[in-house]
Amino acid sequence: MTWKDELLSAARELSQKENLSLRSITFESLKRAQGLCSSTGDIKIKLHTNRLMELEVRKFHDVRTVSHELAHLKHFNHSEAFWEYQRELCKKLSSLLGMKVSGSYSIAGSYR
Ligand SMILES: [Zn+2]
Repeated sequence: MTWKDELLSAARELSQKENLSLRSITFESLKRAQGLCSSTGDIKIKLHTNRLMELEVRKFHDVRTVSHELAHLKHFNHSEAFWEYQRELCKKLSSLLGMKVSGSYSIAGSYR
């Protein structure tokens, strides 16, 4: 299974567990954002492809991006509650993927 497939199935599994109305999740080459989420439940994710970055770090970026957009299915804003929920989803998604959640990578990127 490729990383994309793993990430997709983990995202779907998590959205079911969390009762989030995820309609579609696709990978696209977005120009301005790392991820996008529409109010209709369609999520687009831009995977990190920077080969100079360590694989685990790239994967962590992707997990963060997916968690961010999934969290928007519950909170369509960037409130405190949103960030808290994103952190929670990030932990759950990492564990579904069998990744260790280590401290905090600093992530530069724009989310919407
Ligand atoms: Zn956002």
